[in-house]
Amino acid sequence: MNAKLLIRAGYIHKEMAGAYQLLPLGFMVVNKIKQIVREEMDAIDTQEMIATNLQSKELWNKTGRWDDEVVDVWFKSELKSGGEVGLAWSHEEPLANMMKNHISSYKDLPVYIYQFQNKLRNELRAKSGMMRGKEFIMKDAYSFCRNEEDHNAYYEESKVAYMKCFERMGVGDDTYVTFADGGAFTEFSHEFQTICEAGEDICYINKEKGIAINEEVFNEKTCTDLGVSADEMEKVQTAEVGNIFNFGRQKGEEVGLFFNEQDGEKTAVWMGSYGIGITRMMGVIVEKFADEKGIVWPVSVAPYQVHLVGLNGDDGEIKDCTDGIYTALQRRGVEVLYDDRDVRPGNKFADSDLLGMPYRVVSSKKMKEEGTFEVVERKTGEVNYMTEEELYSKFAA
Ligand code: ATP
Ligand code: MG
Repeated sequence: MNAKLLIRAGYIHKEMAGAYQLLPLGFMVVNKIKQIVREEMDAIDTQEMIATNLQSKELWNKTGRWDDEVVDVWFKSELKSGGEVGLAWSHEEPLANMMKNHISSYKDLPVYIYQFQNKLRNELRAKSGMMRGKEFIMKDAYSFCRNEEDHNAYYEESKVAYMKCFERMGVGDDTYVTFADGGAFTEFSHEFQTICEAGEDICYINKEKGIAINEEVFNEKTCTDLGVSADEMEKVQTAEVGNIFNFGRQKGEEVGLFFNEQDGEKTAVWMGSYGIGITRMMGVIVEKFADEKGIVWPVSVAPYQVHLVGLNGDDGEIKDCTDGIYTALQRRGVEVLYDDRDVRPGNKFADSDLLGMPYRVVSSKKMKEEGTFEVVERKTGEVNYMTEEELYSKFAA
């Protein structure tokens, strides 16, 4: 459903199953999502960088993850000069390896880095539109710490930062820090699961206690450990929007990322990895808030705050008036999309509902004469009439 709506509204183009171009409007939404995540990552002292998409076979062999039996989503290619390369499905190994050039002493720790990068995964079924791509944008972060205590402190900070991101994107109330399979390194990892009909995961949640457990680890033992009983947990469909992992010292040992402790002892760096699905997030937001008329963007991620619909007809005076409102809003820093097309009002209204900007402002002959313009809130359908001055003070921050 998300891809259908986004395509119809001109946000994305489907290149092939699981691969979507971001058109100008879609690019704006993704940039809004990225900027929220960027601000929250910067706030916990994590530094932005960008890694390559081409990756070394030798490096992934070191950790046993080049094997297609171990990682079943690899895209691989051949180099003309001989040998194979992998296309990034994750950046854990390359960035751990890179840090060997930057970490040699306990004085170099901790370090936190992140990036927004395309990930390529040869997913067998790409069926949920933007929510599961073969090529998608992820924010991935990596922490490099001296010991478990420092690691845990950052890990907890990252949980708070992630929840701030999801709150700012309007899905905070429906997003749970969820106990999930920890893989080889720890008993649990933590997922951020958002209640969403179109999601692919099933979780058991307790709203009052704020506890959520992925079905993959939902059993008596987990419940007892978390102080809940299985029958007070509600089964819900969810989408995984983020995932954070503790690697312990294992990955450092595997790739050879060591540092000298104060007493000179050679010690493996304690690592963690932290992902947010940026383009999946866009799909989840569409799924959660869309109605029968189209997309409904939360203010924080909408490409434009105002969709100015000019019912100018061929009346030059009305056109001048609407043009004036457009320029005045822009001058005040308001993000405004202006529909000045020569099409029927019904089409314009239907399109503005489909595109989903938080507010529609209508300018017409009648409104110009009366000196008040119609303002419709997309989410609630609430209608208000405002003078030009009222418009400017409502929308200019
Ligand atoms: P999933 O279980 O959904 O396949 P994952 O556990 O393999 O995801 P991670 O490697 O933890 O995913 O990636 C971090 C985040 O990237 C996920 O939490 C999710 O939001 C997003 N993500 C993962 N795979 C995809 C995909 N194929 N398309 C879009 N987003 C994805
Ligand atoms: Mg995951």
